[in-house]
Amino acid sequence: MEQKGILIVVSGFSGAGKGTLMKGLLEKYDNYALSISATTRKPREGEEEGKAYFFKETEEFEKMIAQDELIEYARYVNNYYGTPRAYVEEQLSKGKDVILEIEIQGALKVKEKFPETLLLFVTPPSAAVLKERLVGRGTETMEVIESRMQRAAEEAEGMEAYDYLIVNDDLDTCIEEMHQIIQGEHRRSFRN
Ligand code: 5GP
Repeated sequence: MEQKGILIVVSGFSGAGKGTLMKGLLEKYDNYALSISATTRKPREGEEEGKAYFFKETEEFEKMIAQDELIEYARYVNNYYGTPRAYVEEQLSKGKDVILEIEIQGALKVKEKFPETLLLFVTPPSAAVLKERLVGRGTETMEVIESRMQRAAEEAEGMEAYDYLIVNDDLDTCIEEMHQIIQGEHRRSFRN
């Protein structure tokens, strides 16, 4: 893959506030492109096709896998999620830094394929805040929230694979921190 921009993976517990953080980063700086994933999960209220995700039936998703249209994919709480290849390659070759907001299994696959990838992990300040945000969002049943908390506990064990841990307590500070980390990575890769 021809790569002028940096590939950045952002993972974090569901409910860590990654979505808001990404939105803020993209609004503030124009050198970032956010990859839009495909998923078999049903849209939440307010989620638009092609903005939040490309929503697919399982059969369609499996066809994308078979045709090698995804850089990576994973199963997360009974659904498929994957990163379409074309957009990522196009944006990287234009010199954009491309952000993939994906879970840990996918993150590790991307790192294996593209070792230069910068891996960032976003976490809320505490488990209590995490649960509060999941419940407060009001979009999931308690059963799904419990599965997501369980998954969060499992993911915490994989955190050491990440280059940076970002604690999301204050949004603006967090946006700036992420931007500075990425800029630092540009300087580092320029030196090598
Ligand atoms: P949600 O259902 O809350 O939108 O996403 C659930 C999890 O799937 C989140 O951790 C999110 O980062 C992850 N995810 C979203 N898109 C992708 C993707 O393309 N690939 C992988 N591996 N995970 C993804």
